[in-house]
Amino acid sequence: MLGLMQDWPLLIPKIIDHAERQHGTREVVSRSVEGPIHRTTYAGVRARALKVAQRLAGEGVREGDRIATLAWNTWRHLESWYGITGAGAVYHTVNPRLFPDQIVWIINHAEDRMVMTDLTFIPLLEAIADKLPTVERYIVFTDGAHMPATKLKNAIAYEDWIAGVDGDFRWKEVDERAAAGLCYTSGTTGNPKGVLYSHRSNVLHSLCASSGDCLSIGSKTTILPVVPLFHANSWSIAFSAPMMGAKLVMPGAKLDGASVYELLESEGVTCTAGVPTVWAMLLHYLEQEKKTFSTLKRLVVGGSAAPRAMIEAFEKNYGIEVLHAWGMTEMSPLGTVCSIKHSVEDLQGEALYDLKTKQGFPPFLIEMKIEDDSGKELPWDGKTFGRLKVAGPAVAKAYFRSDDPILDDEGFFDTGDVATIDANGYMSITDRSKDVIKSGGEWISSIDLENLAVGCPGVAEAAVIGVVHPKWDERPLLIIVQKPGSEVSREALLAHMSGKIAKWWMPDDVQFVQEIPHTAAGKINKVKLREMFAAYTLP
Ligand code: ADP
Repeated sequence: MLGLMQDWPLLIPKIIDHAERQHGTREVVSRSVEGPIHRTTYAGVRARALKVAQRLAGEGVREGDRIATLAWNTWRHLESWYGITGAGAVYHTVNPRLFPDQIVWIINHAEDRMVMTDLTFIPLLEAIADKLPTVERYIVFTDGAHMPATKLKNAIAYEDWIAGVDGDFRWKEVDERAAAGLCYTSGTTGNPKGVLYSHRSNVLHSLCASSGDCLSIGSKTTILPVVPLFHANSWSIAFSAPMMGAKLVMPGAKLDGASVYELLESEGVTCTAGVPTVWAMLLHYLEQEKKTFSTLKRLVVGGSAAPRAMIEAFEKNYGIEVLHAWGMTEMSPLGTVCSIKHSVEDLQGEALYDLKTKQGFPPFLIEMKIEDDSGKELPWDGKTFGRLKVAGPAVAKAYFRSDDPILDDEGFFDTGDVATIDANGYMSITDRSKDVIKSGGEWISSIDLENLAVGCPGVAEAAVIGVVHPKWDERPLLIIVQKPGSEVSREALLAHMSGKIAKWWMPDDVQFVQEIPHTAAGKINKVKLREMFAAYTLP
């Protein structure tokens, strides 16, 4: 017997409808690409999103068509997501930091019909436009006064484009399982893979992501996503903030420490989210300028492992609660958040920071397990590590336009990460399976070594890769970028690490470089790094 409750479809435009009704005057503040701070409200965002949807429908965009956005975090980009999904189409976020060839590849793979973009990226698009046959027109997030002359096909300023309609439109009603968003993983090996979110997966994921032990977003929150909308679905914030009625502050193109700090302070931000690289820049700025925070309470860090030294610096020196989070594009993206559960409430001192350095526990909609290579499930003892697998309604079951199966027999997705899970359910990433160092049949975590090295005074960034060893197969090589004006020696580094890890985990050598290569998502690019050290042999 079925229950007798309504099949109220979980559709993305309903989020902005709710925001307009309940939180219509709540502000959306952006640093515009043109320069000045721009202010609107959720009511304003909805009114203009309706115009976007009306225009798209008027130009023949149909259900399931892909519309690319290649843009910074601003109110216009936000409106476009609601407009695109409200027309039944699919927003396809493109990371402008990818190589032009990769951008060409993914726009062609997605067969995007239009590209919405910022002034910043016009030259980039002009250089590749003749390789993008499916794109019918380019819409530039600006007004007529700022619109430059461009050879992009049918280019128009966004403000002129939406000015042509009155917004008298009803959101297109689609199945809640219909495609709504598309985001390609950066594909450090092979071609990028498209993750295709549905309305339902995004709505469910945002509910979870907003909840108390995740990002804890409510109507009194003011949130600044430094994480771009083009990075893994903006960690849900473009949906969670309006869903919960939080004030939303968008940083535009300026992500340096000084600019982010200025917005955090001027807009009374209480919660912010971004990758470790961004927070390292902010910390550097705070230290240099001797600044403190007046409203910020919570800082979410994820995308790659947050060094313990960073977590401690924000918590101890600035009184900010740091939430270490883990996830991936395939998971919409939040998988776990390291907030403090009831069972560990009494932890203090070192033990507390041991826990806070872990990636945390999942909300209700994620199941996780660890397995050995033969598929045997491993215990949750905080020591045994294995392949981390996940399942849930906001986890991918296949990639866009690919027939390759990606789930195991029980419907779990292999994350490609190696992890431990402790008795309290807290997961800790040991490494990506392809980065873990295999020494004499045992595994060494490159992440643990990097975390430790980056806590040594004078170190700006640290990376560890495995290099071939005749006896042990692989041994760890530590690669260091020094802070400007600092001199840190090999001996000082090894002395700093010694005693804090097993002896056989100690790096065999240290190499100093000017710069460590990063991926388009701002993570250490280990593939490149291994290429750089391909000819290197251990002393
Ligand atoms: P890409 O594959 O394009 O870099 P993702 O953002 O999907 O994009 O990357 C997901 C991966 O990033 C995870 O599988 C994991 O290896 C890594 N990651 C994310 N958050 C963390 C974290 N807090 N600690 C360690 N690794 C992380």
